[in-house]
Amino acid sequence: MSLYETIYGPFELNLNVQHQLMRYLLLLLCFAALTLTAQQVPTKIFDLEKQSAVGRMNNKSAPQTAEYNVHYYEIDLDLDPAVRFVKGHVTVHFQAQTNMDSIVLDFGNQLVVDSIIYQQNTFLTAITSGSNTVRFTFPVTVNSGTYDAVQVYYRGTPRGNPRGTPFAQVAVPNGNLIWTLSEPYGARDWWPCKSDLTDKADSISLDVTVPQGNRVASIGILQGVDTIGTDLKYKWKTTYPTVAYLVAFGAGKYDFYQDYLQVNNDSILFDHYLLQNQSQAQSLVGVEEFMVLFDSLFGEYPFKNEKYGHASFSFGGGMEHQTISFMGNYGGGLKAHELAHQWFGNKITCGSWSDLWLNESFATYITGLTYELGVVHNSSFWPTWLSQTMGSAFTFPNGSVYRYDTSNVNSLFNNQVYNKGAITLHTLRWKIGDSAFFAGVKNYITDTTLAYGFARTPDLQAHFEASYGQSLTEFFNDWIYGPGYPQIHTGWSSSGSNFTISVTQIPSDTSVSFFEIPLAYRIIGNNIDTIVVVDPTTNYQTFNFSNFPSISSVEFNPDDRIFAKELLTTRISKADKPFDFSMFPNPTRDYLYFKQTSNVAGTSIRIYNIEGQLIRHQNFTEFIDVKELSSGFYIVELATGPKVSRAKFQKID
Ligand SMILES: [Zn+2]
Repeated sequence: MSLYETIYGPFELNLNVQHQLMRYLLLLLCFAALTLTAQQVPTKIFDLEKQSAVGRMNNKSAPQTAEYNVHYYEIDLDLDPAVRFVKGHVTVHFQAQTNMDSIVLDFGNQLVVDSIIYQQNTFLTAITSGSNTVRFTFPVTVNSGTYDAVQVYYRGTPRGNPRGTPFAQVAVPNGNLIWTLSEPYGARDWWPCKSDLTDKADSISLDVTVPQGNRVASIGILQGVDTIGTDLKYKWKTTYPTVAYLVAFGAGKYDFYQDYLQVNNDSILFDHYLLQNQSQAQSLVGVEEFMVLFDSLFGEYPFKNEKYGHASFSFGGGMEHQTISFMGNYGGGLKAHELAHQWFGNKITCGSWSDLWLNESFATYITGLTYELGVVHNSSFWPTWLSQTMGSAFTFPNGSVYRYDTSNVNSLFNNQVYNKGAITLHTLRWKIGDSAFFAGVKNYITDTTLAYGFARTPDLQAHFEASYGQSLTEFFNDWIYGPGYPQIHTGWSSSGSNFTISVTQIPSDTSVSFFEIPLAYRIIGNNIDTIVVVDPTTNYQTFNFSNFPSISSVEFNPDDRIFAKELLTTRISKADKPFDFSMFPNPTRDYLYFKQTSNVAGTSIRIYNIEGQLIRHQNFTEFIDVKELSSGFYIVELATGPKVSRAKFQKID
């Protein structure tokens, strides 16, 4: 058992936290904080991002795509936003990783291949499609290590048309928009590609030809716009590594504006593709301040040689397409969330959908940091953000941050990945301290072996362990891979200068036996207002303090530092103390915990109401659930052979 105690006033603690972060904030001092309203506290981004993913999770990337690495895609599309149809061709430049008799691309069943060009020859046969793939059989085996390319000509009406599908057409006041939204498996529904989470293309060009009067927003840098008869060809290109689900375009009658963001002596191009009458100023406000903050915490903006931007879509949420976030609104929380993804999700991408929290928990928590630090947002909303996020996470007592079922969209885009993940990061920060936490995050996001590639949960864990200096296996097992959260029942007593805290932990899911985490209490007494920290190592543990006279109140988890549910914090009076066994807490709302020093074999528990009627009879267990009992006094009786002990407890609502 380890017990430690730190004494500092709550006000000093807040100052301390602020001080730790102040070095990250020096650049921000010249910006006036802009106050947003409480209604903009984002708690439902996961719902919006979930909607955007509905219907796109039927299958995963075809396993045969592992036979090659893509280094360059040339995407060339021709479409009219007034007509929901796509035709075009994609050239896939790849390197064989094995001897390949054929190449398989992810390719939606609703699309049709017209031909494939391979080494200057046009093939109308040797092509099979179906099961959301297209396969081309090479005339001669392509040997492992060979660089080669295939060009696929295709057309079709992509699957579905609600707003959340990968290729959506929506009427806007001055016409129609077509936009794409591919996370997680929708890229294949509008272009042939390799849509897994192991291989980023080194570069991508994306040309879209549209009727004059339309604009096309996309990833990377606009190379130019060619006039072809009555059409315009928008030519976009990125030379940053890009995963298929982050490739996107939007086409329609956008209003277009440009700004430059000043970040650390860099001028970063910022594009706006807005709907009619949308405000450039509203799109811009706060972005530079967020970028300065993220630059200071996580390193420079990962795509600074190209751009950042916003493209509107008439959809509730946002999507962090690389270098151009698609935005359903311009609330400050959503802007912060999508920008944070450019580091967490785009620079380093989750290496499997089970690890989606590496994208979403960070984007969610970093948005919280903008509240805590009062960057753009008013810091007075930080406690609200914290309690709302924690409250959302409590709604899944049996859910884990790490996702075991990736076949179901609801299993990915939910409270557990976004809010439980975010609040678990906050709890980890509490456990290891600000300096180890922020160093671990920065070392992870700037790790050159992960940057512009993929990461799995152990990669992040290793960086936190390096900055903390101790193993975090237990923490990750319980809080990331394991379900639920600790529920804490606290009883305390004060007599003279002696002060005692008895802590009972009841995990919300029985598959985690015990969450190891230091717990904080605010203690108020005679000339005392302080924080004590106890570090239980078992589910039931008592801590004695000898220099705390006349404690009058005890508050569990002040400032919501720990993701733990308070069941009850109550004073234990001597009169209620049981004689032969200890029973805790008393009074109780949810559970009773029994501690019996003698052999419990054969012990039974009986509960009588105050009229002496037997309410319950069961074998001895350490915890019993009393939530169903109505409020009032009860007698509990433990019987072992001829020996019977009784004590009174009070059930409260
Ligand atoms: Zn997100």
